[in-house]
Amino acid sequence: MTDINAPLGRLVDGSEHRCTYSPGDTDAADCGQRATWHIAWTVELDCGLACEAHMAVALRFSYLDRHPLSPDCAMPNARWYFDEQRCAVPGDGSLLTEATAEPEPVVRLL
Ligand SMILES: [Zn+2]
Ligand SMILES: [Zn+2]
Repeated sequence: MTDINAPLGRLVDGSEHRCTYSPGDTDAADCGQRATWHIAWTVELDCGLACEAHMAVALRFSYLDRHPLSPDCAMPNARWYFDEQRCAVPGDGSLLTEATAEPEPVVRLL
């Protein structure tokens, strides 16, 4: 008998990343689709999440920045990195600027 199930692991609930589009700000108007975009509306980083359809709506308004939603966006202490078009936790070593930084000079004690 052949195993037809790919070993994709357990089910992970991604429900916390839902589109926050809600005209009139009521439960009934909530979009509820899976969000794919992270939008910063203001310099105070008032952020929203949008699905593809509502990113198209958001394009009609002014916003500060946006990037594709990634798991890092929801990490505690994550910061918005405009240059890199993503959120990341400072000091986690995965930032491009850190990865490409000059290596520390090696000091030899003879
Ligand atoms: Zn939506
Ligand atoms: Zn983000």
